[in-house]
Amino acid sequence: MCGLAMRARAGWQRWESELGAGRLLGAEGFIAAGAPGNTDALEATTAAMADAGAAFSWLDGSEINARIPFVAAPWDAGVFDPLGGSLRIRGALDALARRAVVRRCEVVAVADDGATTLADGTVVRADGVLICAGVRTSALFGPLGERFAPHTRFTYEGAEATGAACLSAPEGYGLPLGGTGRWAFGQEVPDPAVVRALFPSLVPVSRIDCVTVRAPWLDSGGDGWTVARRGHVVGFVGSNLMKFGPLLGELLAEAMLSDTLPSDLVLN
Ligand SMILES: Cc1cc2nc3c(=O)[nH]c(=O)nc-3n(C[C@H](O)[C@H](O)[C@H](O)COP(=O)(O)OP(=O)(O)OC[C@H]3O[C@@H](n4cnc5c(N)ncnc54)[C@H](O)[C@@H]3O)c2cc1C
Repeated sequence: MCGLAMRARAGWQRWESELGAGRLLGAEGFIAAGAPGNTDALEATTAAMADAGAAFSWLDGSEINARIPFVAAPWDAGVFDPLGGSLRIRGALDALARRAVVRRCEVVAVADDGATTLADGTVVRADGVLICAGVRTSALFGPLGERFAPHTRFTYEGAEATGAACLSAPEGYGLPLGGTGRWAFGQEVPDPAVVRALFPSLVPVSRIDCVTVRAPWLDSGGDGWTVARRGHVVGFVGSNLMKFGPLLGELLAEAMLSDTLPSDLVLN
């Protein structure tokens, strides 16, 4: 996964120049912070990064604070990934949409031969159909082993967050929202007391209620995907996919243009 993320990073940089969309991948860096007294998960992370040839450095609590000045860091150790950063997703989606013909319609069924039925009864046909419909993928493709659990992410103001490092910690994950100055922090079960203790100067200004994926094919960090084929149809679903976007686009396009799935797309 680390090697694939590095290839995807090169893809984000390529999109920056090819799409003329300005900065899409921030240079903030990413910190994985460990539970106090337990660095086992971080050791595993650095082992994977070393295997993939990724740069990293260890941080102590004060060094974490230097990179996220408004956090009251309870962690005594973290791993800093200098290549990680905050993605400018709205800019990326707008730039991509300008390059493609986007037709909005609701699909209700996809047959093995590629015949695709829309909600208004129209049937469209293609040599190949890729289903990547997030929470609706299994309903359209067939079971892929995933289920969905609630997830909430709040947006905060109160300190200048632009330039702060992205964060993954036992309490949740956080990131600066591009150059807006705002900070976002997500947790599976929102715990305002924990967030207040971590970020005493921040106040919530909005929230997103969404889902997180659970599946046997995800790695210990909750990242991963699965892909399957039935007839002319490929079904694809996964978790924490955004960082892999440019790479997944290429691999899925390759899958649609051949009879076999590219080996990098088949994780399990
Ligand atoms: C708050 C939040 C934070 C995240 N943070 C990160 C992160 O830091 N790093 C990371 O890598 N990932 C992150 N992710 C995860 C990432 O956004 C998802 O993994 C990714 O968007 C999944 O892409 P997808 O194309 O599979 O599904 P989706 O993004 O859900 O897209 C599916 C699309 O299919 C459409 N659709 C569904 N059903 C139908 C139908 N019947 N007919 C027609 N269209 C249909 C939907 O409208 C939607 O446009 C985050 C997600 C959230 C919500």
